[in-house]
Amino acid sequence: MHIPFNRPYLTGNEIDTMIKAARAGQISGNGLYTRKCQRMLEKAYGFRRALLTTSCTDALEMAAILTRVGPGDEVIIPSFTFVSTANAFVLRGAKIIFADSGPLNPNIDAEKLEELITPRTRAIALVHYAGIACDMDRIMELARRHNLFVIEDAAHSIDSFHRGKALGSIGHFGAFSYHETKNIMSGEGGCLAINDKSFIERAEIIWEKGTNRVAFQRGEVSQYEWVDIGSSFLPSEVISAILYAQLRELKKIQKRRREIWHRYYQRLKPLADQGKIGLPWLPDYATVNGHIFYITTAGLEERDRLLKYLARKHIHAVFHYIPLHSSPYYKDKHDGRDLPHARRYFETIIRLPFYYELEDHQVDYIAGVVAEFYK
Ligand SMILES: *Cc1c(COP(=O)(O)O)cnc(C)c1O
Repeated sequence: MHIPFNRPYLTGNEIDTMIKAARAGQISGNGLYTRKCQRMLEKAYGFRRALLTTSCTDALEMAAILTRVGPGDEVIIPSFTFVSTANAFVLRGAKIIFADSGPLNPNIDAEKLEELITPRTRAIALVHYAGIACDMDRIMELARRHNLFVIEDAAHSIDSFHRGKALGSIGHFGAFSYHETKNIMSGEGGCLAINDKSFIERAEIIWEKGTNRVAFQRGEVSQYEWVDIGSSFLPSEVISAILYAQLRELKKIQKRRREIWHRYYQRLKPLADQGKIGLPWLPDYATVNGHIFYITTAGLEERDRLLKYLARKHIHAVFHYIPLHSSPYYKDKHDGRDLPHARRYFETIIRLPFYYELEDHQVDYIAGVVAEFYK
């Protein structure tokens, strides 16, 4: 009866792989399942190196350490994102320059990026919102010209592409999330994709508390020791075992999630054609990966009324993100620029229920309730 916003999907094999991991004799990190998952991800998506982490937040923190940004440096980040994208760089002491979303979708406005670049700019951390690619041709060209690092917050973006290249494989680094609200999950979990091989050795060290333990495990050094800064970013084998079970079923999960996305789109298109709601805009260089399905309303008041209406019909839909430049932590540090599109997406986006086990008739019911609201 009640349709939740999210329901984590278990393939049924997780318990089996978790027990195998526990019995293998090494339950801590960087064991058999961790390495299997990393190899699967590298092969499927063309990452030079994949390192599993305990979250996307951790992967972003690793990327921030790898860029060596610090006090006096500036990093450009979309305001319309989850807090972790920015926090990773704030923790390094960098100054965040918040960028607006574009007029057509919530991704960072690539056309307005160059005016934010100063001699102190060191990196751009972008988000492919809802797994729909940012304008990477433009952003990578700009980054090359100004010698900037590009970090893709690919938390939404597993199995999605920009002109045939996997999201997360295009910038210097890609950060993925396997939190239970994402397409595949290990409860908490994540991955750092390293696409420039000059960073691989240091990434392995940062991952293992600043030691060369990974090289030691491969037999490359006779002892492991403290060689750099780092932290404990690697997940336990039990977590990796859950992810492995999920990765084995990724194709099936993705096929269904894409079906759900397209069904929502088809069912809601008549309302969009009548100008009552907005639907996701998909540029010709981007693909759909079935992570988020969102609609946009005419304004904040209508959004709240529609959310309440859906709740009365037992449908749990949600809004997000409170733009980071206007958040309690940052509003006094922001330079005062208005970011009208970020504000507009915050006020008008509704995310509809989305999970693997959502059934066709439920999608139709939800779309029907939205249509009823606008009658
Ligand atoms: C979910 C999410 C994160 C954080 O992922 P965790 O794995 O929970 O740390 C970061 N950025 C974006 C855009 C996200 O949606």
